[in-house]
Amino acid sequence: MRTQVGIIGAGPAGLLLSHLLHLRGIESVVLESRSYDYITSRIRAGLMEQNTVDLLNEVGLAKNLNKVALPHDGVQFTFDGVLRRINMQELIGRRVTIYGQQLIVKDMADIRERVGGEILYEAEATQISNLESKPSITFIHSGQEQTLECDFVAGCDGFHGLSRPSVPGNLRKDFDRVYPFGWLGLLISAVPPSEELVYCHSPTGFALFSMRSEEVTRAYLQVRPNESLENWSEDRIWSELRGRLGQHDGLSLVEGEILQKVITPMRSWVSEPMQYGNLYLAGDSAHIVPPTGAKGMNLAIADVCVLSRGLIDFYQNNNWHYLNSYSETCLRRVWRAEHFSWWMTTMLHRFYDANPFDHKRQIAELHTVFDSDAGSRLVAENYAGLPLEPWQP
Ligand SMILES: Cc1cc2nc3c(=O)[nH]c(=O)nc-3n(C[C@H](O)[C@H](O)[C@H](O)COP(=O)(O)OP(=O)(O)OC[C@H]3O[C@@H](n4cnc5c(N)ncnc54)[C@H](O)[C@@H]3O)c2cc1C
Repeated sequence: MRTQVGIIGAGPAGLLLSHLLHLRGIESVVLESRSYDYITSRIRAGLMEQNTVDLLNEVGLAKNLNKVALPHDGVQFTFDGVLRRINMQELIGRRVTIYGQQLIVKDMADIRERVGGEILYEAEATQISNLESKPSITFIHSGQEQTLECDFVAGCDGFHGLSRPSVPGNLRKDFDRVYPFGWLGLLISAVPPSEELVYCHSPTGFALFSMRSEEVTRAYLQVRPNESLENWSEDRIWSELRGRLGQHDGLSLVEGEILQKVITPMRSWVSEPMQYGNLYLAGDSAHIVPPTGAKGMNLAIADVCVLSRGLIDFYQNNNWHYLNSYSETCLRRVWRAEHFSWWMTTMLHRFYDANPFDHKRQIAELHTVFDSDAGSRLVAENYAGLPLEPWQP
């Protein structure tokens, strides 16, 4: 089997890349180890930056999104007994949009399918060879070992994929920060406490109230990293959600059936460089952020814009410029997102070894940021997202 660009992984990064390349007549094959049903029902990210939504509209992927997504002009924060709202629309003229990652993955996979795009599900890539010249990807599909020959490999296979380990260890540098807490993620059949996201700093730990629709709440509670789900009875969950949200005009916690609960560890991670030979890493395969800044999926999409521009310029103009500078271009944005995600995480979470001084200092930092126009603008600019690179030359 042969194609121009071999893409490993049908997450947001891999599917968007195959779509953008298709728009400029470049062939690709996507190899995905999981099934279609699995990837289109996997609950993960839900918040899209303004530029992500603009891009999806520009490239014809936003038809369903525009019907059901929830645009938010503002975002709210509770700390020290107060409720603060950042009005992003008023401060910077941009906003964020709630649309589940599984929905945009489904939209992209379906559109690729409709135009005859090749996505092989349950096809696990097991080896990447000849990265310095004409690469090939070995994969197992329907019990058979097969080979995909290509000009370039896009490693869009997430944190546990095989692309990143295919960069020789002596050329790779990993930067890592593991946080001393995790998030208990809850999907609840109930109206969310507010129409907007509410981030809560509280003496017993962080909480976030988000949503997947007007009737489904997505809530997160900071927990210890090795916490067992068995320790979180429904009574304890509701008591912590209520306590961490606090009492504020306009916010009310409605109880409902808990549809899903999962504990996720939190880490920051960057692997440099994001390219080696004809292999280009995009999305979670190259970097991970703690979800506090809602940057993971948006960063994956930002990488793919840079990569598609490079590949299009190569195939249309035989110009290597954007491909050669791929890693450098992406990493500038990646590190800004890493910083923002780390900052939001450390400012809003309770560190279990913190002393009363640390707690007071954290409260002072929150007032410094959220009681100030400049501080609020800084949060708004990063939260609604930095400008994307153009996806074509
Ligand atoms: C549990 C969880 C919750 C999250 N919550 C949030 C959130 O609330 N907000 C936020 O912004 N971000 C969140 N994220 C992060 C966000 O979902 C990711 O940043 C985003 O999915 C990155 O997209 P991607 O395309 O790079 O990788 P992925 O979406 O991980 O896609 C990679 C794909 O590659 C496939 N694959 C892996 N190995 C192989 C192989 N060898 N062969 C073939 N296919 C392979 C995988 O099956 C997968 O489908 C969360 C992540 C997780 C894991």
